[in-house]
Amino acid sequence: MKHIAVLGSTGSIGTQTLDIVRCNDDFVIDALAAGSNVDLIEKQAREFKPQVVCLYNENAAKELKERLKDTDMKVLAGMEGLIEIAVMPSVDVVLTAVVGMIGIKPTIAAIENGKDIALANKETLVTAGHIIMPLAKEKGVNIYPVDSEHSAIFQSLHGENHDRISKIILTASGGPFRGRTREQMKDIKVEDALKHPNWSMGRKITIDSATMVNKGLEVIEAKWLFDVDFDKIAVVVQPQSLIHSMVEFVDGGIMAQLGVPDMKLPIQYALTFPDRRPMDTPKVDFAALRQISFEEPDLNNFKGLAMAYKAGRIGGTMPTVFNAANEKAVALFLDRKIGFLDIDETIEKLMGLHKVIENPTVAQILETESWVYETIEV
Ligand code: NDP
Ligand code: MG
Repeated sequence: MKHIAVLGSTGSIGTQTLDIVRCNDDFVIDALAAGSNVDLIEKQAREFKPQVVCLYNENAAKELKERLKDTDMKVLAGMEGLIEIAVMPSVDVVLTAVVGMIGIKPTIAAIENGKDIALANKETLVTAGHIIMPLAKEKGVNIYPVDSEHSAIFQSLHGENHDRISKIILTASGGPFRGRTREQMKDIKVEDALKHPNWSMGRKITIDSATMVNKGLEVIEAKWLFDVDFDKIAVVVQPQSLIHSMVEFVDGGIMAQLGVPDMKLPIQYALTFPDRRPMDTPKVDFAALRQISFEEPDLNNFKGLAMAYKAGRIGGTMPTVFNAANEKAVALFLDRKIGFLDIDETIEKLMGLHKVIENPTVAQILETESWVYETIEV
C-alpha cells in the first residue's frame, strides 16, 4: 500500500492525481488539502475517506468541519493544518500540487519527517531549492518530479551517469502567442491568455505558459532537481508538445521522452517509480502526426524567460523576486488590473530594485515575498 497526502487536491493536478488513485487499488489517500473549495473537497473526502482534510482558508475550514460532522475525519485549517498533514506518520509520499510559494513550509516539513515528495509545485523549488535539495539528500528523501518536462528528464536519466550529462534540453510549446511581437501582444485579454493550445491546466500556470515565465520557472526547477549549471540548460520550442524534454550526454547521444500531452503519465510515474503501469490514455500516432517541428525561443518578445536565467544565475533571493513578482502580477492580470505585457515588465522592475540576500533562510524568502508584494503598487 502507498499512503498519499495530496496538497492542492481540488486543482488541475490534484484532481488528476485522484483519477490516478481511482485506478490503482494499492494507493490510499490519507489526507487532502486545498485553499477554499469546500464543495469539491467535501466530495473528495466522502469518496476517498482520508483521515484528515484541511482548507487553508479558516472560514471555509469551519464550513467543511460542519459539513463533515457525520464522519470521524479530522478537519484542519491554515498553514498549521497543511504542515500537520505533511508530517502525518502514516503518509509515505506527499504530492505537492498547491499553486505558489505557499508550498514552501509544508514541503520542508514533509522532508524533515522523511516523506518522499511528488513535486508539482515548482514555485517552492524555484524559491527554496537551495534549502530543499540538500535537506532531501540529508534525510534520504526522494523528490519525484510531476512537471511533465522534469518527469521526461527524470525518465531520460534513469540508469544513466549524471556526470555524463552535457545538456538538458527543456521543450516548450511556445504558448498561445508564439510568433507574436510585443506590439501584437499589448491588448491581449484574460480570456485569450487562458486558452492554451495543448494543455489544460490551472489559471496561474496557463498565464505563465502564455508569457513563457513558466519555462523560466522550469529552467530554475531543473537546475535544482538535476544539479546542473544554467549554462547546461537549453530551451527549445516544440509546438506540438510531444517531446516532453531531452537530455544530451557527453558522447552526443540524446535521450528523450515522448507522449501525448497528458499530465496523468508524469503524475502516475512519480507515484509508481521505478515501475510503469498500464494507463488508459491516447497514445502517439506517428503516422497521423507526420511532423515534429522545432524553433528557437524568442527571448526578446518573451523576456520572462531571459529574466529567469538572469535571476537563477544571480541566485540568493533573486529567484524569489522573479517568482513573487510574477505571482502577484499574474493575479493582478487575472483581476484585469494590469495588462498582459505588464507581467514581465513588473518582474523586470522588481528585479532591478532588489538587493540580493545570499543563501536566504525560509524567513528571508518570505520577507522578500512580502517586500515584492508591498513594492508592486497598483
Ligand atoms: P490549480 O490552480 O488548478 O490548483 C491549485 C490548488 O492549490 C487547488 O487545489 C487550490 O485549492 C490549492 N490552493 C491554492 N491556494 C492554497 C492555499 N493557500 N493553501 C492550500 N491550498 C491552496 O493549479 P494547478 O493544479 O494547475 O497547479 C498546481 C501546481 O502544479 C503549480 O505549482 C503549477 O505550476 C504546477 N504544475 C501544474 C501543471 C498542470 O498541468 N496543471 C503542470 C506542471 C506543473 P482551491 O481549489 O481550494 O483554491
Ligand atoms: Mg511543465
